[in-house]
Amino acid sequence: MKPTKHPLETIEDVDEFYERLDRKNLTQSLSEERPYTYWTIELYDKANGIRGGGGLGVLAADTRRVAEQMNVPLTLITPFYPSEQHQECEVKNENGNFKFENKTRSEKVDYEKFGYTFIDTVNIKCNNEIASLDVIEKQLGSTKILCITEPNFGELYSGDSGGDHRLYQEVALGFGGYQALKLMGLKPAIMQLNEVATFFAALARLDELASNGMDFYEAVVYTRKHTLYTNHTLVQAAEASFHYDQFERYVFPNLKSPAVKKWLSDKFDNGTIRLSTVTIEIAELRSGVSKLHARVANYHELSGKKVKFKAVTNGIDIPTWTEPEVITYLKDQGIIDKFYLPTEDYEEKINSISAKDIRKLKLQGRKELNKVLEHRKDQYGNNIEIPEDALLFEFKRRFVDYKRPWLPFSDPEKLKEILETYNAHYVLAGRVHEGDVRMSEKLKNLLKLIDEDEVLRRRVHYLPDYDEELGRALSLGSNIAINTPIVGLEACGTSWMKDIINLGILVSTHDGGVADCPADSYLNIAGQTEFEEVQNLYAKMSEAAKAWNEDFNLEYIIKTELKNFLPVISGTRMLKDYLNYLF
Ligand SMILES: *Cc1c(COP(=O)(O)O)cnc(C)c1O
Repeated sequence: MKPTKHPLETIEDVDEFYERLDRKNLTQSLSEERPYTYWTIELYDKANGIRGGGGLGVLAADTRRVAEQMNVPLTLITPFYPSEQHQECEVKNENGNFKFENKTRSEKVDYEKFGYTFIDTVNIKCNNEIASLDVIEKQLGSTKILCITEPNFGELYSGDSGGDHRLYQEVALGFGGYQALKLMGLKPAIMQLNEVATFFAALARLDELASNGMDFYEAVVYTRKHTLYTNHTLVQAAEASFHYDQFERYVFPNLKSPAVKKWLSDKFDNGTIRLSTVTIEIAELRSGVSKLHARVANYHELSGKKVKFKAVTNGIDIPTWTEPEVITYLKDQGIIDKFYLPTEDYEEKINSISAKDIRKLKLQGRKELNKVLEHRKDQYGNNIEIPEDALLFEFKRRFVDYKRPWLPFSDPEKLKEILETYNAHYVLAGRVHEGDVRMSEKLKNLLKLIDEDEVLRRRVHYLPDYDEELGRALSLGSNIAINTPIVGLEACGTSWMKDIINLGILVSTHDGGVADCPADSYLNIAGQTEFEEVQNLYAKMSEAAKAWNEDFNLEYIIKTELKNFLPVISGTRMLKDYLNYLF
């Protein structure tokens, strides 16, 4: 498959952006040699050769893209995985005998094909051996992707989350990545840790300072002041832990300072450690990824004190995820500026949007979706095309329990009625994590339900191997997006942002970043019980479908969404929030 390419331009004259930040010391603190460093175990940026697993990696890629456009010196440090997973799912029905296969296929990835330059190798100590890691680099405007890799590095999230191989990958990113930075002559102005799998990068810095003559406590204070821990998880207890003997084999041998080793050893509780515990200790700056998430994430320092997270709601890189004609339209109407930020009077300007324009732009989006669908297959291995005169509902996100992909299928008769009444199709896209037997079974049951019904078979399509290309295409070409996380479990989510910016109607529970705005900003699925939620979901699906036939309601819903969510969605706003928080 060809990597998707989205044109990315550095915006000319970004001075005004920096002026608006009102941080004079920012330009002094950040430079090419002293970049903002962003550490992540996952990057979802197939144009640059790396395919992530979900939202965490998409966020990392968008953060870098926005930084590139705003001319911010940012170095993103991440592993380059020499192979990646693809989902193959096929359904067969032979004489009433339903067969379902859900397989994972590995594909080799070669970094040279994606324009990376080999720099040198660095060594780390693992399990009584020296592991030699290649350092590769790709410069993209003011930003850089700096990777460590080796042929046996494995795939993203391979093995158990508390297993040796995962620890090896995390140690390699932290200690190897930190050496790679030094090799490039770079000193981090700030270290942003995108979740705790990147903890070892901050540990490597602490160790360097403490073993180079700085007083240990000063080294701790210094490291803490310059480290931001960005949390995406809600419950500390849900995290896997590592054993002391694993640290003896993979972590301690890489530490030079006895004081750091002692400090780390003391953090074990009953012979085990959770990385969040030590990440909190090493990072004074902590952020959560939506207002709700920052408020409810339940984490504690070792002292017992509850951790306060600064809310920096995720945003998306608007030019990557938006139909180009929609961007031109939003700019022409004076709704967004050249930085992809809402203009000063965007709310007033949004009033000028007309149903006619929405329909015209959506039709363009539908055409682009159908172009992508030409080389994708449904669960039967067939190409599909969504007719231009049909409405399209979509559910596109990782196939995990809390997102409840099956919710709209709770009452198949009701779903059928909606699809038939409004001449609608329903696309379902989302990969099941390898080894998730339960979700694989749920997917099978769903596909069986669809297979056994003539209407559903005609109108509901499952698209395997969900990726960026499909995510983008569905946002462009669908009319109504369904987002059904169990309230309280979604940290932010960004798929729904792609739907709103492409002038779609969002039907969602009030959770994650959606809850940054009031529940009447979109079509909210309310309910105290799942039964009530399902009833309300169908009501909102009907309301949304109906609105696409009534100009006034369509305009009202789209305008309300944009007025509320545009500032949230803007990735530039997110970057601005981070810069304001950090410098
Ligand atoms: C946007 C996107 C995501 C983000 O998913 P959420 O569930 O909304 O966090 C994940 N995967 C892909 C391929 C995407 O394009």
